[in-house]
Amino acid sequence: MLDADFFRRWMTATAVSVEHEAERLTALDSPIGDADHGSNLERGFRAVTAALEKDGPDTPGAVLTLAGRTLISTVGGASGPLYGTLLRRTGKALGEAAEIDEREFAQALRTGVDAVMQLGGAAPGDKTMIDALLPAVDALGQSFAAARSAAEEGALATTPLQARKGRASYLGERSIGHQDPGATSSAILIAALAETAGE
Ligand code: ADP
Ligand code: MG
Ligand code: MG
Repeated sequence: MLDADFFRRWMTATAVSVEHEAERLTALDSPIGDADHGSNLERGFRAVTAALEKDGPDTPGAVLTLAGRTLISTVGGASGPLYGTLLRRTGKALGEAAEIDEREFAQALRTGVDAVMQLGGAAPGDKTMIDALLPAVDALGQSFAAARSAAEEGALATTPLQARKGRASYLGERSIGHQDPGATSSAILIAALAETAGE
């Protein structure tokens, strides 16, 4: 079973990874964006860690809802509202249960990913975070490790795609040949999840 502490540890692990990978994320956002993805997420997840410490939410749903709200209010770029919506809607779907099982979490995360697709209008293959998140959710029924592999493969597979959403889409065909920064950070988020689960 997964409790509030598991989700707090997931958010903290994500913050640590984002800090390590911030330069790489910003470098990926340089040729096809505005070179701020790493700093956007670093600021956002630092604020998430601080908010979780300050408020001490005591259910899985409350942890993710607070994390999502914090990202929305601290990250100005496209990724703030999108990741914020992912976590907030996943948290809302978890309700007020003190513990949830893996299957319930997989269902809730799917609700969150659907909300991101609704908000941003991106479909699979549009070269966005969805290309890592959706395969991860599909694989989460098997294991956290399978979700991590699926997200990593999904992020790598964005390289040959032409962007159809977000800033990178302004480049048209020139967006081809670059890995999407948001799909890469989604793979980091899911890797932190697997790490937290000990997989
Ligand atoms: P900004 O583009 O505003 O500077 P970031 O650099 O933080 O924001 O985030 C860019 C990432 O956000 C992209 O690499 C892409 O994965 C994701 N993204 C942008 N627009 C969308 C969208 N409409 N739907 C899903 N993901 C998107
Ligand atoms: Mg950017
Ligand atoms: Mg920006």
